[in-house]
Amino acid sequence: MPDFDLAIIGGGINGVGIARDAAGRGIRVLLIEQNDLASGTSSASTKLIHGGLRYLEHWAFRLVHEALAEREVLLRAAPHIIRPLRFVLPYHKGLRPAWELRTGLFLYDRLGGRYILPATRTLNLGHGPVSAPLKREYRLGFEYSDCAVDDSRLVILNAIDAAARGAVIRTRTRLVRADRAAEDWQLVLNARGHRESATARVLVNATGPWVGPVTTAMLRLKIPAHVRLVKGSHIVVRRLYENDRAYIFQSGDGRVVFAIPYERDFTLIGTTDEDFDGDPAGVGATPQEISQARRSRARRHRPLLRGGAGVDARGAAAGRRFSLEWGRCAGGAGARPVAVPHRRTRAAHGARLRHAARSHPRRCAQPRRSRRTIRRRPHRRRSALSHA
Ligand SMILES: Cc1cc2nc3c(=O)[nH]c(=O)nc-3n(C[C@H](O)[C@H](O)[C@H](O)COP(=O)(O)OP(=O)(O)OC[C@H]3O[C@@H](n4cnc5c(N)ncnc54)[C@H](O)[C@@H]3O)c2cc1C
Repeated sequence: MPDFDLAIIGGGINGVGIARDAAGRGIRVLLIEQNDLASGTSSASTKLIHGGLRYLEHWAFRLVHEALAEREVLLRAAPHIIRPLRFVLPYHKGLRPAWELRTGLFLYDRLGGRYILPATRTLNLGHGPVSAPLKREYRLGFEYSDCAVDDSRLVILNAIDAAARGAVIRTRTRLVRADRAAEDWQLVLNARGHRESATARVLVNATGPWVGPVTTAMLRLKIPAHVRLVKGSHIVVRRLYENDRAYIFQSGDGRVVFAIPYERDFTLIGTTDEDFDGDPAGVGATPQEISQARRSRARRHRPLLRGGAGVDARGAAAGRRFSLEWGRCAGGAGARPVAVPHRRTRAAHGARLRHAARSHPRRCAQPRRSRRTIRRRPHRRRSALSHA
C-alpha cells in the first residue's frame, strides 16, 4: 500500500488549498514545496479575492459565478486577513460605454450570490472625497465590491489547517523525480540536501509556472496542453490618496490598471501583462514595466497628494501567471498526475477541489509512516483558517 493517497507538488495557494480540502476528507496527503510556502506566484499577486469582472467580456459567466460564490465563503472563513474593498471605476468617454459598464456590474452583483458585500452604486465624480484623487475629466463612475487579502498568509493558514487535519507538509523539499509504477507514484525528494522517498496513489502537479518543466523533466511525461507564461508587475508607491477605495482604470488597449491601498502608508499600482519565457524563479520587473506603471498612475491621478512631484517607486514586485488548457495525462486509474491550471485561483480553487475530491475515493485510513521521516500528524478539529 502506498505511503500516501495523494502527493501534491508545490506549496502555493493551489497546492495548500488542495491539501487542506483533501485532508479534511480523510485523504492521506503529502505536500512538498521546494522553497518556503508561498515563495512563488502566491505571494506576488495583486492580493485580491475577486470574481474577475473583466472575464464577463469573454462571456466566462460560469467562471465568474464560481469565483464570486467563493469570494464570500473565503471572507466568512478568514475575515482577519480578508477585507471588503470598494472599487471605483471611473467612466471615460471613448472607452467602454457607460451602459456596458452598468450591465457588467449588474451581472457581477448577481451572478455569485452577494450577502455580505454592498452592491454597486453610481457615483457623481464631480465632487466628494472619492473623486479627490482623480483628474477633473472624470465626472461619472461606478463603485462595486470585491475583497483584498494578505495572499501569503492565506497560503500559510491553509497549510497549517491542512497539517492540523493530518496532512504532511514539507518545505525545502524538492521533487527530483517521480516514477509511475503499477499502483502508485514513487517519488524521489531532495530535502535540504538529503535524499528521501515516498509513494502515493495520486500525484498533483501544483507547481504553477513550473508545471511544464516539472511534467517533462521530473515526471518525464508529455505536457498535455500548451502552457503560456505571462508576467505581471506592480509598483508600490507612497500613499497617493487618503480614502480607502481602490481605483480601476480602463486603458485604450483593453487592459485595466489598479491603484489599491497597500499596507498603511502605500499604494500598489498594477499590473502590466507581458509574455514570459524565462525561468520563473528569475522573474522581475523591468525598468520599462516600472515606467509603464508610473505613466498610468500619472495619467489618472492628480499630481501627488502627498510626497511631492513624481512617483516614488518603493518597490516593484513581479509574479507570473500561467494559462493551461485543461488536460489529463495518460495513466492507469489511481496513478495519474493532475495539472492544476491558473484561473481565478483563490476564489476558484474550492470548486475545483470539490471536483477533484469527487473523483477520489473517500477514506479514513489510519496514519501510516513512509520509509523515512515522513509521517502523518494527528487530526485536530478546530480550523486554523478561521479567526474565531
Ligand atoms: C501579477 C499577478 C497578479 C495576480 N493577482 C491575483 C489576484 O489579485 N487574485 C487572485 O486570485 N489571483 C491573482 N493572480 C493569480 C494567482 O496569484 C496565481 O494563480 C496563484 O498564485 C498560482 O498559485 P500556484 O499555487 O498555482 O503557483 P505558485 O504560487 O507559483 O506555487 C507553485 C510552487 O511550486 C513550487 N515548486 C516548483 N517546482 C517544484 C518542485 N520540483 N518541487 C517542489 N516544489 C516545487 C514552487 O517553489 C512554488 O512555490 C495573480 C497572478 C499574477 C502573476
